[in-house]
Amino acid sequence: MEVLFQSRERISRNIKKLMGVLKDNGIIAARIARLQDKYDAIGCAIILSIKGLTTEGIINAVKDAFGKEMVSISSKPISLESASPQIPEKTAASLDVEAWGILIRSFSETLGTGACTSLYTAGMEIGELRAKGALLSQPKQDRFPLFMECLESFQNSGWGSYQIVKNGSLSYDLEVRIFNCLECRATMAISGYDNSFTRGQLTGMVRCLFNENLTATEKACIKKGDPYCAFIIV
Ligand SMILES: [Zn+2]
Repeated sequence: MEVLFQSRERISRNIKKLMGVLKDNGIIAARIARLQDKYDAIGCAIILSIKGLTTEGIINAVKDAFGKEMVSISSKPISLESASPQIPEKTAASLDVEAWGILIRSFSETLGTGACTSLYTAGMEIGELRAKGALLSQPKQDRFPLFMECLESFQNSGWGSYQIVKNGSLSYDLEVRIFNCLECRATMAISGYDNSFTRGQLTGMVRCLFNENLTATEKACIKKGDPYCAFIIV
């Protein structure tokens, strides 16, 4: 199905609204396969799984909801092969290890040690954001599982696999091991660069979840020949 809207201006609002209309009409699954500029209008191709509704019924529902904001709507088959892979909007711009290396090297060359400080601070803000998100969705949950949830999302975003080793009885008396730490792999060749972004993210998470005074410190690192990077929370 292809829906053309009047202009690109309110595209995200329109897509959200479109998803709402589709959902109301018994669509079990819908996803945007690609966005395509077509003159001033925006083309939005959608793959649908339909339950008990005709294509015509959906077309009418979409027409009713958008009125003049929409230029046209038509149904046409899209082959799955030609559709772009589905990338969640929030993680759309990922970089591979080599590209991260270039980005951080460029920061380092311009800012020197200031690059580490800047990445640490940014990481901290991002870690706090992850923790706040987890807290918001499960406010009554214990903090430790929430911390694991944050690390899970960190891991799923490709920053490295985590393992937690508990050192003492306190819930935040921990060592967090990161295997294949993306930041350290990416910066192998940058002399004088210390892990900052990952350390910042961990610090942001534990400060938000456990205690404002905590800091993550890297005590083992693949750059020094250790089998993993280890961060102690103190
Ligand atoms: Zn490291």
